[in-house]
Amino acid sequence: MLGNKRRDTKPELAIRRRLHRLGYRFRVDYAPEAAVRARADIVFTRRRVVIFVDGCFWHMCPAHTTLPKANADYWVPKLRANAIRDRRVDTLLATAGWRVLRFWEHESPEEVVAAIAEALASETRVKQGPTSPS
Ligand SMILES: [Zn+2]
Repeated sequence: MLGNKRRDTKPELAIRRRLHRLGYRFRVDYAPEAAVRARADIVFTRRRVVIFVDGCFWHMCPAHTTLPKANADYWVPKLRANAIRDRRVDTLLATAGWRVLRFWEHESPEEVVAAIAEALASETRVKQGPTSPS
């Protein structure tokens, strides 16, 4: 849990594999908006949908929040700052016209993929006219 490995986590890979198998194409570990200094885990550029798969520890998942007791002076402000930053990124991206979906790494990949598919379907209905390419 202390390895700061932010990409290609196991739950994220499971989600990406499922999406891919369903025929979705997307960018991985990609900054959707130049002005917002944040990379998202999965980005559907055309449909302007951004997905974050947040690690329970790094992003203070309410179901698994156990703040470290060792070096608390270091960890607690750092993790709080992460959570605050997440909310800020959400707001900035939403303002720029992105739909932001966040999931916890503990959520089942099947359910996450179902939620993403649903979001993409509704974005498609809203944004794609009959003449727009795919
Ligand atoms: Zn969790």
